Amino acid sequence: MEGALTARDRVGIQDFVLLDAHTSETAFLDNLKKRFSEDLIYTYIGTLLVSVNPYKELDIYSKKQMDIYMGVNFFELPPHIFALADNAYHTMLAEANNHFILISGESGAGKTEASKKILQYYAVSCPSTTLLDNVRDRMLLSNPVLEAFGNSKTLKNDNSSRFGKYMDIQFDIQGDAVGGHILGYLLEKSRVVHQNHRERNFHIFYQLVKGGEEDLLHQLGLESNCQHYSYLVQGECANVASINDKNDWKTVRNALFCDDIHSIAYWVIASVLHLGNVQFEPDSKGYATLNNSAELLWLLGVNVQVLQEGLTSRKIEAKTDEVLSPFTVDHAIYARDALAKAIYGRTFTWLVNKINDSMENKDSSCKTVIGLLDIYGFEVFYVNSFEQFCINYCNEKLQQLFIQLTLKSEQEEYEAENIGWEPVQFFNNKIICDLVEEKHRGIISVLDEECLRPGEATDLTFLERLEEKLDSHPHFVTHKLADKKTRKTLERGDFRLLHYAGEVTYCVVGFLSKNNDLLYRNIKDVSLQVSTHVASQFKSSLLGLTDILMSKEPWYVRCLKSNESQQPGQFDDVLVRHQVKYLGLMEHLRVRRAGFAYRCRYDVFLQRYKPLCPATWPYWRGVAAEGVEVLVQHLGYLPDEYKMGRTKIFIRHPRTLFATEDAFEVC
Ligand code: ADP
Ligand code: MG
Repeated sequence: MEGALTARDRVGIQDFVLLDAHTSETAFLDNLKKRFSEDLIYTYIGTLLVSVNPYKELDIYSKKQMDIYMGVNFFELPPHIFALADNAYHTMLAEANNHFILISGESGAGKTEASKKILQYYAVSCPSTTLLDNVRDRMLLSNPVLEAFGNSKTLKNDNSSRFGKYMDIQFDIQGDAVGGHILGYLLEKSRVVHQNHRERNFHIFYQLVKGGEEDLLHQLGLESNCQHYSYLVQGECANVASINDKNDWKTVRNALFCDDIHSIAYWVIASVLHLGNVQFEPDSKGYATLNNSAELLWLLGVNVQVLQEGLTSRKIEAKTDEVLSPFTVDHAIYARDALAKAIYGRTFTWLVNKINDSMENKDSSCKTVIGLLDIYGFEVFYVNSFEQFCINYCNEKLQQLFIQLTLKSEQEEYEAENIGWEPVQFFNNKIICDLVEEKHRGIISVLDEECLRPGEATDLTFLERLEEKLDSHPHFVTHKLADKKTRKTLERGDFRLLHYAGEVTYCVVGFLSKNNDLLYRNIKDVSLQVSTHVASQFKSSLLGLTDILMSKEPWYVRCLKSNESQQPGQFDDVLVRHQVKYLGLMEHLRVRRAGFAYRCRYDVFLQRYKPLCPATWPYWRGVAAEGVEVLVQHLGYLPDEYKMGRTKIFIRHPRTLFATEDAFEVC
């Protein structure tokens, strides 16, 4: 067959495990690219699904396609998000246990689309009773609402989710979807008050201002012009070609399921817009005064005088008295923005709770769940700040979880199948997780301690503390230590972490204030309670999440972005290579290959390869395991290359199966 182009040459290999044993990053990329050029955006690494964003509509998500994938064995059809969804579902039903699907990748890689496809698959394909359609509709409708309040246009993605989302889909014993529950993480609240050039605030603001009915806008004291609101104009792109805010407004309005929620949500959005327009001027002593308090009148339910005081001064408790210490204009702006962020953040949480109420499974007939986690992947920018620190820590934890779960499940599978377990060494990132989260000397602890010294501590003293405590840590580098450890120079205000996926340099500016996210005291008196420090709050919610995930069987979807300009048909090698690295895909491949790279149930294996052996073709009349034994003997598998488990054959090297696949194609 020399010279002939086999199907594999043309469309690449659908499972990376089948590539040569020492697959280089380059070979990995070649395979992805080859497939991408044929519109084959999905490829497996074992049961992990790699997806490359095509930036064009592919005709692979129809009901017909769903039917094709329903109940079919994973490896029998081309890789697909439906195959993964279906396999998780059927395994859940067969084994009556809980599962989760972790979807990761950088912004714009296709995570949210993937999670929507999975949700649709369950909504459309699972058996249904009319009674439950309601819950199912709510689950699907929760998407546009959450996207309106939690997504925005960024440089990387016109519809970028600015929060991490974990959703449980609850099933009863028949496999009916009977309820849902959502947890939201790390909403990027800073976006409410500040947007970079060519980026927008959250969609809902533009939807309301552009699409809101005249009456409604009148009630809320709003103008139907985005240019009027200082929180909407900073990025200079209130209009985006790919977004129709007016239409989206209608969708969201219809999806917001009850009147109360409608009115409260709009009122909050309007309040934030009014608040953003509150301006300050310095008085003769340089202290902030409000130049116009008319906007405050629209902040319903709040005492205007108290709010006005709160925005321009701070209460200080003297021995027997309270005195007001006036703010400078900068301080006043900070206080205003802090309030706007807090109002928005709390509204988001409240909305998630309302959605949860509406999807709640009231008759508690739920037996098992499939969790969907759609969360930012590793973020590495030119300048990395507190937000990236939290996101990357999150990914570090998820990697740790992946290692634990994969090793654990490998070990369990080998035991269950009666196959000797051969432990494999690979990098355990616990040391980096500890570096971030350890009590007293971990970065989060040090940050919290610094936040308890208001007036004295600064971002730089925080950095000094880190240097004192972490001087000898192999994964922590600062300006002082840089030359010694990596020989790469670092700016004075930076520190570098050697994450499992690579190095990231963080700039400490803003760490303290972002961690504090603390409202000035008397603003808090107006309507809100003081918030705890964000990083530790995040840490505990993350620990909660890892607990939730640890108790479930994992499935992974890794999304890759094909190019930065959101164009179809473009495959940017450098960009994709970078993501392959930061998503730890090569590492994953190594883990999958450690021990036995490939395993397959006897009946499935026999069904697929039986044409390769006269004794098994067209039928094998005995036990499947014996048929497989005859088949692999015939193919010349060496004893060292495979093991027969209780229900599955285990193949050590992919090249073995590779040869079998070749033979199969020729035949
Ligand atoms: P992320 O959630 O990872 O930031 P999204 O899921 O929002 O990214 O995807 C960004 C955009 O890419 C989508 O709005 C859509 O236009 C396109 N896209 C993503 N996945 C697909 C897909 N499977 N098919 C077609 N287009 C897609
Ligand atoms: Mg998203």
